[in-house]
Amino acid sequence: MTGASRGIGRGIAERLAADGALVAVHYARNSEAAHEVVDSIRTAGGDAFPLRAEFGVEGDTKALYAALDRELLGRGLEPRLDILVNNAAVSGSARIHEVTPELVDRIFSVNVKSLLFVIQEGLTRMPSGGRIINISSAITRMSYPESVVYSMSKGAMDTLTLALAKECGPRGITVNAVAPGFTETDMNAKLRTTPEGVARLAGLSIFDRIGVPSDIAGVVAFLASPDALWVTAQRLDASGGLHL
Ligand code: NAP
Repeated sequence: MTGASRGIGRGIAERLAADGALVAVHYARNSEAAHEVVDSIRTAGGDAFPLRAEFGVEGDTKALYAALDRELLGRGLEPRLDILVNNAAVSGSARIHEVTPELVDRIFSVNVKSLLFVIQEGLTRMPSGGRIINISSAITRMSYPESVVYSMSKGAMDTLTLALAKECGPRGITVNAVAPGFTETDMNAKLRTTPEGVARLAGLSIFDRIGVPSDIAGVVAFLASPDALWVTAQRLDASGGLHL
């Protein structure tokens, strides 16, 4: 479970653990937050361990899987991955005239390049019945020129989901994307600093509220469950009817 130390990732990690998964709580820098998630999962009767690897830097995928394999072997388990949830991402607001090569490199190296290689390596450990679930964004079905590069990176994720579903089907692995809308996390905290800001975001949803991580976690839990074995190549909108 990448990016599980905070926000939506934390919600999904806690839900998958409650459903019985042993969860690798991946994070980049925020060790304290990741350990808090692990503690909360264990207190609730589940099992989890923290896993550090910063994406977008040289050797990120190697570091991730070396740490994962070490932990699993230490528990007497084979290095196997049944469910891979790709949630870690960075955002960045910029309209076309504000975009810099540095911004493109940053967003694409984390949201696209690392994503691809995390999946590539993850597939070498995934048995039949495996699940790949990509956390995309409702932004790919809307026009948000103020986040043009971030939008492009999530578009790449949706395209990757489609291509991989065909690749992985013969192995009995499903590949799907879940697309949240505005959800209460650090990523959009700046937009929620005033009551007007909160009301504006809430009003974009047909249910007149901002999403919370558990709204997304339930959808991911379904895709990860045996009930979803016949669902692949889909992009499930979990945005509360954003901009309908
Ligand atoms: P968040 O609160 O900002 O948390 C981001 C998570 O990703 C943290 O666990 C963070 O680890 C990890 N991360 C950040 N940069 C990383 C890097 N370079 N390498 C490895 N891990 C890194 O994000 P969120 O709002 O929960 O978003 C989760 C996912 O949902 C993202 O894919 C986002 O694009 C998508 N999404 C969010 C919203 C929304 O409204 N929040 C809407 C649509 C889609 P540390 O704690 O160590 O920094």
